[in-house]
Amino acid sequence: MRRILAAILPGLLLANCAGPAADQPVTIDFALKSGTEDVTCTRPLPGLNKKATLTDARLYLHSVSLIDPAGRTVPVALTPSSWQRDGIVLLDFENAAGTCRGNPATNTAITGTVPAGRYTGLNFVIGVPAPLNHTSTNTEATPLDLVAMGWSWQAGRKFIKIEVDPEGGITRKTGKPGISWNLHLGSTGCAGDPVKGETITCTSPNRVPVTLPVFDTNRQHVVIDLARLFDGTDLGRDGGGALGCMSGADDPDCPAIFLQLGLSPVATLPPALRIEPKG
Ligand code: CA
Repeated sequence: MRRILAAILPGLLLANCAGPAADQPVTIDFALKSGTEDVTCTRPLPGLNKKATLTDARLYLHSVSLIDPAGRTVPVALTPSSWQRDGIVLLDFENAAGTCRGNPATNTAITGTVPAGRYTGLNFVIGVPAPLNHTSTNTEATPLDLVAMGWSWQAGRKFIKIEVDPEGGITRKTGKPGISWNLHLGSTGCAGDPVKGETITCTSPNRVPVTLPVFDTNRQHVVIDLARLFDGTDLGRDGGGALGCMSGADDPDCPAIFLQLGLSPVATLPPALRIEPKG
């Protein structure tokens, strides 16, 4: 026994003196639901105010971090794959089956590593960072090469693309009926030409920072709830502008969606501040 311990001990001492402990793998799972039920491409969406089917559901995330018990944010080093690079993740819940129109591959998790330790919370941002957002789908590697997630008219990406087809179509103010209610979240009010090397600035970046102060990656997953997302939206009609909400600052269909995303379509005052006439 003594000989065995003697053989093992140097190894243990070496490990203890070798510096910080090795990284540990982390997987952060996501689910797309409507209310409490899973969303699929092969049956009508449950729990919405109008019977509808899913045609697309994809979104980009970045700046993924875990939060340790002391409140420090620790970046997750993403494992490079066709879904992840340069701190960006594409989540893809549609599989081209049934009513969906994308491609068969899906991705519902973030994978990476963090320094060994205990973590109790999660941070991420919905969207693509500006320097990588305003790039060409023709020249970027996956997952930024998808034409379907490109947003040429605003020189960027759709951060969220969720499209549903309500039964009976969509009534529009133009009188021309619509088929798909489109949620395209992205930066708007952008100026600058990336082709000329100009820096693009946007008056409404529309990235969504998310902090989950209490989150256990081993026991919990993050749910995107379409019933809540479309709470306050009549999917059978469009109030004007793009069909659905394509993030237009003046689209009457966006405020209800932005409210559910924790975004405000226009600059608002914090509740503790107000404006009054002087005197
Ligand atoms: Ca609209």
